[in-house]
Amino acid sequence: MTESELAARHRAVLPNWLALYYQEPIEIVRASGRRVTDAEGRTYLDFFAGILTNAIGYDVAEISDAVRAQLDTGVLHTSTLYLIRKQVELAEQIAELSGIPDAKVFFTNSGTEANETALMLATQYRRSNQVLALRNSYHGRAFATIGITGNRGWAASSLSPLKVSYVHGGYRYREPFGGLPDADYIKACAEDLRDVLQTTTAGDVAALIAEPIQGVGGFNVPPDGLFAAFKEVLDEYGILLISDEVQTGWGRTGEHFWGMRAHGVTPDAMTFAKGLGNGLAIGGVVARRDVMDSITANSISTFGGNPVSTAGAKATLDYLLDNDLQGNALKLGNHLIAGLRDLGERYDIVGDVRGKGLMIGVELVESGGKHPSPPNAAAVLEETRERGLLIGKGGLHNNVLRLAPPMTLTGEEADEALDILDASIAAVQEGTR
Ligand code: PMP
Repeated sequence: MTESELAARHRAVLPNWLALYYQEPIEIVRASGRRVTDAEGRTYLDFFAGILTNAIGYDVAEISDAVRAQLDTGVLHTSTLYLIRKQVELAEQIAELSGIPDAKVFFTNSGTEANETALMLATQYRRSNQVLALRNSYHGRAFATIGITGNRGWAASSLSPLKVSYVHGGYRYREPFGGLPDADYIKACAEDLRDVLQTTTAGDVAALIAEPIQGVGGFNVPPDGLFAAFKEVLDEYGILLISDEVQTGWGRTGEHFWGMRAHGVTPDAMTFAKGLGNGLAIGGVVARRDVMDSITANSISTFGGNPVSTAGAKATLDYLLDNDLQGNALKLGNHLIAGLRDLGERYDIVGDVRGKGLMIGVELVESGGKHPSPPNAAAVLEETRERGLLIGKGGLHNNVLRLAPPMTLTGEEADEALDILDASIAAVQEGTR
């Protein structure tokens, strides 16, 4: 069966809203390091890492061995009603790494479920169903998380159990005061937050939830210090800060292990998922002890923190710490950003290059202006694929290329990707495709 036949069957039986990349979608059947191979035998350099799930790349012996050792015991899972050694060890490690004093950890199967849990904890802790989120945000696809999605393209339902107010600070490139210098921008956003608190709420809000760098929203980087200014305002009201580290965690941003650290802020709770399991389904919440234990009823996640996922996650975390992948993300991220800024000088369909570490966005616009160009982004995606590179796409207007390779990336691979992007953007700008 060819990939196009499989795509037709996919479209027939899976929902319309489960979009596939590329005019001719690909099926990945093998992978190793930073390269994946499709069912027709074509190999690609993977600069999206399965939407950042493969933090350290494919087919890593340490991870496979840890998972295989667990499979060999015959225990895939029994339940969270019994002790699971790796779950406890992983929780201890994450609590320590979080920097949240005396933290506790709860494991889930996805980022969505992690954020749903964090919202439940915050609303319960504060006895309020009011939440603040950033414009252009994405936090998941279940009922409460859809309710705090500030990006209409991904807001699958508008029926939310939460009362949500949106504040500025997410997407600087196109925000009303986005063009201000950093310090003034931070001040304007903090004033906007205070204004929202005083006008659309009575101040009795549960939490502000935010991605330190917006992912789906197009890798939008706020100036360092924005969340410190937010926290000052939130603290006046006793409002909790939840950092959604689903994309920014585990050292991917290079400078810091958690994205929120760039702001010198310790949040009350952080959520995580994606890269932790290097492809295995695992997520979770790490939070202040009093916030985590604000729930007095019993609760459970049948599969959350299961022995297979936690064995793989523990091995992944050890691997990325032992091999200083955060340092590699910083080094190669800076190299890629410099190379892409150079492309930005040469091609006027490149409107903005932004990022930190291995989380880099390239916003494509119409030639000679700032108008978003989804067709140019779609075209570059096809061109890069033809040349053997997989990248992502996102942003409010679906016009932002997203680069987020595994953190084990090499310098040669970074240069290979830059060459492919150069040729692909040239082909689209010059209309030669
Ligand atoms: N938070 C952020 C910042 C995300 O990027 C995502 C997924 N794109 C989620 C939450 C939801 O994670 P999941 O798809 O694992 O439910």
